[in-house]
Order: sequence, then structure tokens, then C-alpha cells
Amino acid sequence: MEFRDIPWSFVTGTEATPLIDGGIRRIAVLSMHTSPLDQAGIGDSGGLNVYVRELTASMAKRGINCDVYVRRTNPHHPEIVEIEPGVNVIQIEAGPFGLLKSDLPAVVDLWTQGVADHLEHRPVDVIHAHYWLSGVAGHHLKHRFDVPLAVTFHTLGRVKSFTGDTEPEDRIRAEDAVIGCADAVFASGKVEVDQLDSFYGVSRERIEILTPGVDRTLFTPGSSRQARKALGLGDYPILLFVGRIQALKGLDLAIEALAASRNSDARLVIVGGPSGDEGLETYGDLIARIERHNLNKRVIFVEPQPHHLLPTYYRAADVCLVPSRSESFGLVALEAAACGTPVVASDVGGLRDNVINGVTGLLVNERDHRVFADSVDRLIDHPKTCNEMGNRAVERAALHSWDIGASGAIEVFARLASRELVSCV
Ligand code: UDP
Repeated sequence: MEFRDIPWSFVTGTEATPLIDGGIRRIAVLSMHTSPLDQAGIGDSGGLNVYVRELTASMAKRGINCDVYVRRTNPHHPEIVEIEPGVNVIQIEAGPFGLLKSDLPAVVDLWTQGVADHLEHRPVDVIHAHYWLSGVAGHHLKHRFDVPLAVTFHTLGRVKSFTGDTEPEDRIRAEDAVIGCADAVFASGKVEVDQLDSFYGVSRERIEILTPGVDRTLFTPGSSRQARKALGLGDYPILLFVGRIQALKGLDLAIEALAASRNSDARLVIVGGPSGDEGLETYGDLIARIERHNLNKRVIFVEPQPHHLLPTYYRAADVCLVPSRSESFGLVALEAAACGTPVVASDVGGLRDNVINGVTGLLVNERDHRVFADSVDRLIDHPKTCNEMGNRAVERAALHSWDIGASGAIEVFARLASRELVSCV
């Protein structure tokens, strides 16, 4: 397939058409379990935080006030923090600060009540909930305030269970209930649309595609030599992993692929930190693998980095690895593409929408480290192909922007506000 033949129509909204905001002025964005104030790449903070921060900032530029409700996890943060003009993060106390994610279902009701107290005084036109926990809160608040509810799930319990990361039945039941009453469910691309349909039976009219964007003022191509110099990295092949260290992200496969690579001088740079209840165990397993293969000098761990420093890592790398077991979109793959670095990713979930196999990177459809290693070697051993893929990746990434996503989202919210709400009662 030629690059130009690829259908781009799934990208929502267009910048050319005038924005119809339907009088939407303020929305409540629910992000109970993680805050855009947190550094992404460790703990429970990752793509969702970036999505919320970037989407709300772009909506605010279009005149929509965004109140982002999070659970307070730090006694020192003020209750309300303005992170961009028109975007306020509002911290609601619900339970002890240091709760684990698995403890959060027990405090959802308390948190919801705290958000409701604010909504009494800061009325909103629409609620946009992120992840199933906030979906549960959003469902309650929708009924209480009679406003439309849109949900972005980011990950889906049944999809995770299907790929081997079993999720509790309570979560899946809760997702069913939220979906049953959501006025719109946002999907990141065609693959997630299919998952919502086949795993949850969501009718197509209620699914809206909102393709995540990438900040192309930051994530741009640049000199690999200079990037390596800035990071103190040498003239060897560099594989890069960026993200949270948890089993789902498949770093075990990345390390096994490094061990199996023909490029015995290649290095694997891992930017990020342990995440979730089992993150430390996963990290321990990786260290054991590294020692077993005697890779200590070839794997470099880097603590989580803020977004403005990440482009240097992408530019330094020959290949970015995204070996996830499941992935709803995979912002990292798009950021690498925007920096002109081809991606070798597993052929799962949103990565199928995000990476064009053989054009902007390679998709690997087996969880076999030898196949992964072979894909990586094919790129490293053919710098010309690698370069061409990098160039195609930059062109592809240029079609994604948070401004386009924000315009599309606002038009969806306007439509929801002008019609009768979905009812589950
Ligand atoms: N990230 C970051 N610093 C890090 C590691 C990751 O800012 O040290 C960001 C990364 O740039 C990306 C997000 O975290 O924007 C991860 O999103 P992705 O969709 O790839 O994975 P998720 O966290 O949603 O599973």
C-alpha cells in the first residue's frame, strides 16, 4: 500500500470548518485516579494525564472553560490550580492521600459527592469522564445535574482480560453500567471502535472517534548525533522504550529482543518508572532478566522525564520499541513518529491505527522475542530504509493534533447538549 493511499478520514474534525460550539462554555473533566499535575511515566500517571492536559488546553484556547476534577493526593497543593488560562485542576479530598489504585473504588462515592458540591456553584454544560472510575462518578453526576456524559475509557477491562491481564468483575460491571447511560463514548481509532462494539455492544451512533494528538512544537525531528551528545550516549545502535514500567507494557520482550539481536553492541534506553500495584515486581523481573543475559552494560534506565526533554531521547534513538500486550492508542508511538524515529510495536489495539506497518514502522504480531529482534535488526541494518520510514512517520504524525481533537470534541459536546439525554432508568 502506498503511503498516500491510506484513508485519513478517521481523524475527527477539521481546522478549515468553523467551530460550532452550541453555546458550550464550561465542562467538567473527571480524572479521579490521576492528575495532569503529576509527572507522566511513573505511578498511575501516563498517557491519560497527557491526553487530559493537552485536550483541555486546546479546548480552553477555543473559549471553553475546563474544570479538571482530580482526587487530592498531596496536602501541599492548593485546592484549585490554574494550569493554563481557562483550565483549572480542582482537587477533591476523598480518602487518605496515599491510596493504591486498587483501593479507589471504595472512595468513588465520597469523591463524587465532593465534585457535586463544586458543580452546585460551578455549573457545567457537559461532563467528560476519563477511565472507568471517573465514569462511575460521571454517571451519578449526569443524573443529578441533568447534563450529557461523554466518556473516554483509555483502557477497557474486558480487552485487558482478553489479552491476559485479568481485571475484576466489578470493574467490568461498572463499565457496562456507564456505557449503558453514556451519551457518547470516545474511541481513539477504528480498532477501539471495534472493541467497544464487540466486547461491550456499544451502538455505533454513540461512539465518537477522537484521535489523540502530539505537540509538534516540541516533538520534531532533529540531529541524532547532537541528541546523543547531549545525553552522553555513544555511537552504537540505540533502542528506546518510553513509558510506565508495568507488565502490560511488555518490557520483558524488549530485553529478550535485545539479547537476541544480531547487533551485539546495541543499547536499550528505558525512560520511565514502576507503575501500578505490581510495578516493582515487574521491575525486579526485568533486572533478573538483564543479569541472566549479562546485559547490565547495555540497558540504561533513565528516571521519568518531562515532555520537553523527551524529544532528545526520541531523536537519539534508531528505533522506538512499543512491545505492549494491549494499548488503547500509544502516545509514545506517535511522539516517536513526530521526531522521525520508526517504531517497532506489537500488533495490538490502537497501535494498529497508530503505526502503518512497513511505512512508518513495523508491527509484530507474535509475542516472540526472536521476531521482535529480527524486526529491530532489519531497521538497524538498513539505515536508508530506517530513514525513509522516519520521514514517512513525520508526515503521518503531522496529521494528528490536539487542536483537531479539541474541535472535534467541542462539536460532539454541542451535539450532545442539543438532544435528549440517553437514559438508563
Ligand atoms: N511520558 C513522559 N515521561 C516519561 C515517560 C512517559 O512524559 O518519562 C509520557 C509519554 O511521553 C506519553 C505518555 O507518558 O505521552 C504515555 O502514554 P502512552 O499512551 O504511550 O501510554 P499509557 O501511559 O497511556 O499507557
